[in-house]
Amino acid sequence: MNRGPVAEIDLSALRHNFESISRITGKVPVISVVKADAYGHGATEVSGRLVDAGASCLAVAFTGEARKLREAGIKAPILVLFDTFDTEDYFRHDLVPVLHDLRTAAAFSKEALRRGTMISAHVKVDTGMGRIGFSPQSAVSDIGKMAAMGGIEVEGLMSHFSEADLTDKTFAGLQIEMFRKVRREVSERLGRPVMAHIANSAAIISIKEAFFDAVRPGLILYGYSPFNDDRGLRPVMKVRTRILVVRDLPAGTPVSYGRTFVTKRRSRIAAVPVGYADGYSRLFSNNSEMLVRGRRVPVAGRVCMDLTMIDVTDVDGVSDGDEVVILGRQGADAITAVELSSRINTIPYDILTSFGSRARREYINAG
Ligand SMILES: *Cc1c(COP(=O)(O)O)cnc(C)c1O
Repeated sequence: MNRGPVAEIDLSALRHNFESISRITGKVPVISVVKADAYGHGATEVSGRLVDAGASCLAVAFTGEARKLREAGIKAPILVLFDTFDTEDYFRHDLVPVLHDLRTAAAFSKEALRRGTMISAHVKVDTGMGRIGFSPQSAVSDIGKMAAMGGIEVEGLMSHFSEADLTDKTFAGLQIEMFRKVRREVSERLGRPVMAHIANSAAIISIKEAFFDAVRPGLILYGYSPFNDDRGLRPVMKVRTRILVVRDLPAGTPVSYGRTFVTKRRSRIAAVPVGYADGYSRLFSNNSEMLVRGRRVPVAGRVCMDLTMIDVTDVDGVSDGDEVVILGRQGADAITAVELSSRINTIPYDILTSFGSRARREYINAG
């Protein structure tokens, strides 16, 4: 028996989701976001499958992530979203930086000139996210300055939505308007079109005008909609484990740290090897369910570091070694990352990356 939970990654579901995106966006190239180890699904395997499926480009947060993909033999263009520290990495591994201010642009220019080469870069404009990027007011003149530095080829222009997942698209609309204006002015200034992209998952699903020249999905690749609805997507990650032991306890028995759960009747309590060290938040204490024999059962007491207890009194025949599903489908029922996230006041992204960074992964349907 394996210890601890397994995050099962269904690569055919990933392909299905990628194809669903292509159906929505038509011929618009897809920059697949595989940052944070592909939202916990394993960047190398996921990227390989996405490139096979037709992803034109990958996006990661840091150069270290990109380096791993190159070492795994991935040849597709890689856009690095949030890392401008080590300019040499970009030249060494053929990566595309996102330039977000003149200081970092100057560093890339200097390194390119030193090497006697050019670097293709995308320029980030802050249209309302308030995170990083050139201001829309100065972007055009700053890009002019960048061009004058030499060594930098502005290939793309990008921005990011702050609330495309709301049904009220007023602010997203303003961001699009601003982005369109900057794109037009930049193209005029450079005397050629630049590839513009702003659409994250929420915009891909709900804002046609946001597609521009490429889209940048993350979450929907992994099978979840930012609107917490189905959309025909297929969750890629399932987290399962096996019951360590089932015990019959008399009424009045406290379960787990702090005695926050006390049996009200003669109960069957199963110890399940999954805990907060595996990414199963301690906030699920007395506040979640798991699937056993196709039935939902409640978490009993506090989630521990490596163990969580569940109350299986109402399910017949549960025994040691039975499969427990923590995230995903078992029989006719399923526990989704949406359900788990709403229980602890977070978002599906957080659930997926938490499990993904800690549980052991297994890939299925790789063929
Ligand atoms: C994470 C990220 C995305 C993908 O966002 P999703 O909501 O997962 O689709 C796109 N662009 C940037 C800049 C990001 O940081």
